[in-house]
Amino acid sequence: MTAKAAVASKTKSYEIPATMKAWVLGDPGQLSMVEKPVPQPGLAEVLVRIDAIAVCGTDVEIIWKGLPAIIQGGPPFNKNFTPGHEYMGTVVKLGPNVDEFSVGDRVTVEIHAGCGRCERCREGMYTSCLNYGKNYGNVNKGHRANGFTTDGGFTQYAVNNINTLVHVPDDMSDEEATLIVTAGTAMYGLDVMGGLIAGQSVVVMGPGPIGLMGVAVAKALGASEVILIGTRDNRLEMGRKLGADYTVNVNQEDAVEMVQKYTNGGAQYVLECSGALTAVNDAARMLKRGGRICLAAFPDKEVSVDVGALVRNNIYLFGIRGEGKSATHRAASLMAQKRFDAKLIHTHTFALEQVPEAVRYARERIDDAIKVVVKMS
Ligand SMILES: [Zn+2]
Ligand SMILES: [Zn+2]
Repeated sequence: MTAKAAVASKTKSYEIPATMKAWVLGDPGQLSMVEKPVPQPGLAEVLVRIDAIAVCGTDVEIIWKGLPAIIQGGPPFNKNFTPGHEYMGTVVKLGPNVDEFSVGDRVTVEIHAGCGRCERCREGMYTSCLNYGKNYGNVNKGHRANGFTTDGGFTQYAVNNINTLVHVPDDMSDEEATLIVTAGTAMYGLDVMGGLIAGQSVVVMGPGPIGLMGVAVAKALGASEVILIGTRDNRLEMGRKLGADYTVNVNQEDAVEMVQKYTNGGAQYVLECSGALTAVNDAARMLKRGGRICLAAFPDKEVSVDVGALVRNNIYLFGIRGEGKSATHRAASLMAQKRFDAKLIHTHTFALEQVPEAVRYARERIDDAIKVVVKMS
């Protein structure tokens, strides 16, 4: 066998059809399955065959309310738009000059590629790209956010910028790999608060998927006490399995009092994942002076905040948008090293044909669904 033939025999190749099944958003809340052309990768892009995708709370927002998705400068309804962003798969085709990945690589994807040319992208804050949604017609700045401003993953194939790809180890299941971006979002929240987690106390408010991954990541990074606060005992129990040292059910106990007790005078960090209207005020009272709060959830109305208390106590307030600063890579590394078992939050699995049912389970938390995953056959 010649050297060239040996290389060729090792290179995987995949048959790529001309069209694919894709769910598209019609009116608010309406998904239908259509045939779409399989997209072609351009410069710095690859074609990913989607093997699994998790349903996110933000997908539910987009499908019913539109924002934060923006397609062609407006709401995403009736634009042949495919939602879904927490997907993983296999690289099946490379764009011109791509040598960072190979055909056959298993990858999970971040959402935001950013435009690469604005002030924020140039600072590495690509999830806060100033050209968000500008990827069409004469305002095309090349911004991409899968399932937000470009077609997402409730389909069979998607084009991805190489900057959004993260390798998945062979011994990690497809389902688990879809959870990397959620863990990456929690990691980004801990990063923006300063990232000095080892030996510090961390409070996580809200045991949704990001909060639960926040517990796991904080513990994996060496936090001394991790305290999870919520309203449902079964979610708090899950938090303990993921590493929470203490849990507080606010229906039964005063969270501020309990945090003060468990931390001997106040925590250093609060990762706010609940969206509760009183969350910022409560968080400030849980912290010791000079403590830090990161907001990672959306309250559904305006909230009133005791700014005086923040100022008097030198409390720092941060907000995060998405899974920035390559936090997804760091989260993937912790998961590859088996520092925590993200699989615990995966509760339900559906097929591609069942996407509306999968979304309904996630939206209505049927059967206490936490992470619902759609697995391609
Ligand atoms: Zn998400
Ligand atoms: Zn940008």
